[in-house]
Amino acid sequence: MSALPGISTWGRANPRDKPWLRFRHAWGGLAISAAIVGGSLVPRAAAQEFDLVLRGGRVMDPESGLDAVRDVGIRGGVIRAVSGQRLTGAVIVDAQGLVVSPGFIDLHQHAQQPDDYPLKAQDGVTTVCELEVGAADVDAWYAAREGRTPINFAVSVGHIPCRMAVMGDRPDFLPGAKTGAATRVADAAQLAEVCRLIEKGLARGAVAVGFGLQYTPAATEREMLAVFRVAAKFNAPCHLHMRAKGDTGPQNVFSSVLEIIAAAAVTGAPAHICHVQSTATRSTPAVLQVIAEAHARGVNLSVECYPYTAGMTDIKSAIFDPGWREKGAIDFKDLQWPATGERLTEESFARYRQTGGLVIVHANPEEIVRDAVSHPLTLIASDGLRGHPRHAGTSARILGHYVRETKAITLMQALAKLSLLPARRLEERVPAMKNKGRVRVGADADLVLFSPDTVIDRATYTQPDLASAGIPHVLVAGEFVVRDGAIQAGAAPGRPVRAPLRAAP
Ligand SMILES: [Zn+2]
Repeated sequence: MSALPGISTWGRANPRDKPWLRFRHAWGGLAISAAIVGGSLVPRAAAQEFDLVLRGGRVMDPESGLDAVRDVGIRGGVIRAVSGQRLTGAVIVDAQGLVVSPGFIDLHQHAQQPDDYPLKAQDGVTTVCELEVGAADVDAWYAAREGRTPINFAVSVGHIPCRMAVMGDRPDFLPGAKTGAATRVADAAQLAEVCRLIEKGLARGAVAVGFGLQYTPAATEREMLAVFRVAAKFNAPCHLHMRAKGDTGPQNVFSSVLEIIAAAAVTGAPAHICHVQSTATRSTPAVLQVIAEAHARGVNLSVECYPYTAGMTDIKSAIFDPGWREKGAIDFKDLQWPATGERLTEESFARYRQTGGLVIVHANPEEIVRDAVSHPLTLIASDGLRGHPRHAGTSARILGHYVRETKAITLMQALAKLSLLPARRLEERVPAMKNKGRVRVGADADLVLFSPDTVIDRATYTQPDLASAGIPHVLVAGEFVVRDGAIQAGAAPGRPVRAPLRAAP
């Protein structure tokens, strides 16, 4: 780096780049940029220095608050200029009438196979993270995706899959209600092995530690604390599906949120509460109040929600253990089987619980979801799974329904919840996230261009795979993955988002 005041040198971010110097001179309130290319000073605008220019869009950056018409110049996968002057480049995209925003970062996305990514990209998502369930073998998870995905990807090391491995469960997405991971209290050796697997995953660059305490009811508070202590050594956030629903009995949603707050306060590991509205249901405003109070007292807490009144999970999991109707204040008729669209009865519930499979759970009134979406602390994460419209429609539903149609939040607030807040949640653990979730010089060119007048989700409970509308362009590292509304077949600019590696235990 140059030590000359006012001049910064830029390294060769891309081997094809020419070395160049850049300086900015503030004059009359106007920032003027120039480049020294090949030894001669030329005005920036005259040089073909950008691979791509997004021309004349409404650039919205939730970090700086910038909301103005700008040209964005991209080279080598990085934003190199955000300018009120006209920029030129090898490719020019007319962005007039479109918002240019940071690409959306989804911290909670289960479906992560090749066929699952296009619908996410068409919903403006440029980074997907599986942080709640996570993986036991972090190296294998990254290796399976590297170089093959349109969008960026990240995983946590999961307490659920590590516990399933230690208890000898058959590998599956979630443990069944009667398996060892759900029913057996860990002895000292098993607890040590769970902690060793968690530490190994963190050493291999897992970005967080995932928990699903409602799926592993035999995991004690002591076990949870032990895993939090491992996370704290790596400053890794713990992403948790809370232990219990309901607001009565010894285990309820309040005892659940309090045990998470206590674990974060005791160990110092940051804690992130998953899909608050689907666990807390009608107690969501009261639970958010508890989270906000702890946050105000300095506990490192964050919280997410998704913009749908129904949830979805495995019917054979411990979530549907006896008492689920009382705890969730729902009944058989509130369950919907996606394959047939039927609402369940006592008889069909018993039948499907034998075979297993994902079931839609209609559990929330609209006001609860609106309260969760508009709360200042919540960030938006989809909990994406195929079969539920949240996989394909979460971002566009926020921008179309909650910003434009019902005005529950402003457009800038929505963009912060979709991009900046998720980036900030991970950036202490993963420094590369400091260059995501922003539209500024030096940030990764992960960008979404959408029409604020037409953006809307199209996915429904009966047609969950309909792509969102009004999002014509999505860029990852400066490369189109969606262009003119169409997925770019074969585009694979997605990169692993991974914490620094350490020696594994
Ligand atoms: Zn969950």
